[in-house]
Amino acid sequence: MSASTSLTNALGNGLRKLVGKPARTSAYGVFDVQLKAIIALSPSLSRFVFSGEDVGQMRTLAADQRIKIFFPSADGQYPNLPKQGSWQQARRGLSAEQSPPMRTYTIRDLRREALEVDVDFVLHGVNGPASTWATQARIGDRLQMVAPNLTFDADPGGYEWRPPKNLRNLLLIGDETALPAIAGILEQMAADLPEVPVQAFIEVPCEADCLDLTCSRATELNWLPREVLHCSHGEAMIHAIRELARLPAAAAGTGAKVALEEVDIDRQILWELAQPGNGDFYAWIAGESAAVMNIRRYLITERGLDRSALTLMGYWRAGRTFD
Ligand SMILES: Cc1cc2nc3c(=O)[nH]c(=O)nc-3n(C[C@H](O)[C@H](O)[C@H](O)COP(=O)(O)OP(=O)(O)OC[C@H]3O[C@@H](n4cnc5c(N)ncnc54)[C@H](O)[C@@H]3O)c2cc1C
Repeated sequence: MSASTSLTNALGNGLRKLVGKPARTSAYGVFDVQLKAIIALSPSLSRFVFSGEDVGQMRTLAADQRIKIFFPSADGQYPNLPKQGSWQQARRGLSAEQSPPMRTYTIRDLRREALEVDVDFVLHGVNGPASTWATQARIGDRLQMVAPNLTFDADPGGYEWRPPKNLRNLLLIGDETALPAIAGILEQMAADLPEVPVQAFIEVPCEADCLDLTCSRATELNWLPREVLHCSHGEAMIHAIRELARLPAAAAGTGAKVALEEVDIDRQILWELAQPGNGDFYAWIAGESAAVMNIRRYLITERGLDRSALTLMGYWRAGRTFD
């Protein structure tokens, strides 16, 4: 480090002390939370309200802000990873019995002053640590989350909702796991860009899962309940993109064959992101990986859409588990 850099750092630190600003911390931290309330939103989706002193230091940057949640370990203990130092290293040092399972979720709402954070869980049965916990949860249960730190003053990432500045046409497609993020995106569009046309398709298990979401008047919200449509997972999303979605006219019917590399969705998570640009079309698509792969193939190879306008994310994979 040069003398001038070290002087600048020293001055910066001194100034921080003087104005009482907390020192810059790491982007993400481990937060202790306690289950405060469960609100049944529909047969398949419940809102879990978590609280705790730590929530006052949590931050969310976008409607699809993802967090990691640690659940009770196989030996029945609540997660207790260290809040200082490396939680990854501490977790690696635990036996399979003691290690808290980790899964990815979306912050649906953060009310820092009230020390409350909401996460909407899909109840898909007693077949994975997250859904099992959610099905059997009791008020007072203690979990841990890895989430962005409020005191980190740069962008910690962990979100993909990054629409282009000139957005004129938004397409949202997802299943019930993406519903929390899509609901947040629709709310934000209604507040910030109410004139921009939005077409949203949300596949859910049954009719009673079709929620009353806040949308702008320029939004066409289409619910796709599998039970009513007699569809299996992902089928309705695939039908929607092929038959119902309004795709940009310029790209439609080009017939151009575009080479597309395969992604082994049984081994890796499908995660392809739009590039920040000036285009006016943007598609945000998330759900079961095979369905998103199918949609990816259709949009890119059959319709010749510009990949830089597409965010395609496998949120889960049927028959597989990912941390
Ligand atoms: C960025 C991101 C954000 C996410 N946000 C949310 C969110 O806010 N709410 C939410 O509920 N989920 C969300 N998910 C999806 C969630 O992480 C997965 O569904 C996860 O697999 C659930 O863990 P589990 O322990 O219940 O099941 P796992 O142990 O992972 O899996 C057990 C079995 O259940 C199957 N399975 C997993 N999820 C489902 C499902 N939804 N329906 C039917 N079968 C399933 C698996 O294929 C496997 O066979 C998100 C995922 C990502 C990547």
